[in-house]
Amino acid sequence: GQCILACPVGALYEHENINDIWREIENPDKLVVVQTAPAVRVALGEEFGLPIGTRVTGKMVAALRKIGFDKVFDTDFAADLTIMEEGTELIKRLETGENLPLMTSCCPGWVKFVEHNFPNMLENLSTCKSPHEMEGALIKSYFAKRMNVDPKNIVVVSIMPCTAKKFESQREELSNQQMQDVDYVLTTRELAQMIKEAGIDFVNLKDEEFDNPFGEATGAGVIFGATGGVAEAALRTVFELVAGKDLDTVDFNAVRGIEGIKEATIELPNGAVINTAVINGLGNARKVMELIQKGEKNYQFIEVMACPGGCINGGGQPIVDKETRENIDVKIARSKAIYDEDKSLPIRKSHKNPYIKKIYDEFLGEPNSHLSHQLLHTNYVAREKF
Ligand code: SF4
Repeated sequence: GQCILACPVGALYEHENINDIWREIENPDKLVVVQTAPAVRVALGEEFGLPIGTRVTGKMVAALRKIGFDKVFDTDFAADLTIMEEGTELIKRLETGENLPLMTSCCPGWVKFVEHNFPNMLENLSTCKSPHEMEGALIKSYFAKRMNVDPKNIVVVSIMPCTAKKFESQREELSNQQMQDVDYVLTTRELAQMIKEAGIDFVNLKDEEFDNPFGEATGAGVIFGATGGVAEAALRTVFELVAGKDLDTVDFNAVRGIEGIKEATIELPNGAVINTAVINGLGNARKVMELIQKGEKNYQFIEVMACPGGCINGGGQPIVDKETRENIDVKIARSKAIYDEDKSLPIRKSHKNPYIKKIYDEFLGEPNSHLSHQLLHTNYVAREKF
């Protein structure tokens, strides 16, 4: 923490983390595992001169293997898992009418904002940990068991578009048996730095695939990277769970787009209505929260991302110079890449992910089970107002 104060651009702090990870990789006693958030793959290429909006998923995986990570996992898998857990939570809350609106909890900037500014609405936050934290918890339990490795010798590194995730990963409650779920968070920029330090010719890398069991994700997991994506992913699954059968509904265009506040009224197959608000930027979130507190708005589901445009435009993403920004809308180009990746995937609904089905069958039981609560859910604390 101190370095952030000493070094206003965070460069010192960034470099410290990179050196820690090189040290862990060189330690033969450690199994060092990495996972990457959805928004990283649509921006990392910019650091190597590729046009904004280029998808580099396969090259990113190849680079991570070359750097020396023992397993390369996809946080998108846990985004699918989040939808199973949070979708089930939403269905339950709609039935009981309690703690509505359900507010998403995958953005630590937003969660902290609620803790500081709206402590009387902490119960409205989904109890789901954010996807990379869920995946970290599973790596140190389910995966450790499968590999027959002591979880204390596993190091989990998350590559995130986000600087707030560094703080999040150190939260005491995001741990299990005295181990943090995630040990280190690196930003997209820091990963680029590591790739450069390793002397890897990124642009000419051949595509490689993520490792299993956390390597398969659906289009729903991918769209978490753009504002509106979590809401859309949840709706894809909640619709079918409520209907009890397969449906053609995949695209929910009403929640897409980079406007700061979007509203949509969605009728579920059982007639229940979900008034949804999708918000990006904390100034917009404050406006909506004040309307809710005054009783002027009535929602059942709210998605909030602290960064304008969502994680594609997070604080850890490549910095685009002013001249380029005048010619291209970075948020639109990166979010187009996210929705293209979604469309390119054979499975686009979280509950259809075969590895998700498998982990419930083999390990977790069912969404919101006792074990799910123990590993995948968390709680929040009121913090001083600012
Ligand atoms: Fe982090 Fe911004 Fe994404 Fe929130 S919206 S998780 S602060 S990158």
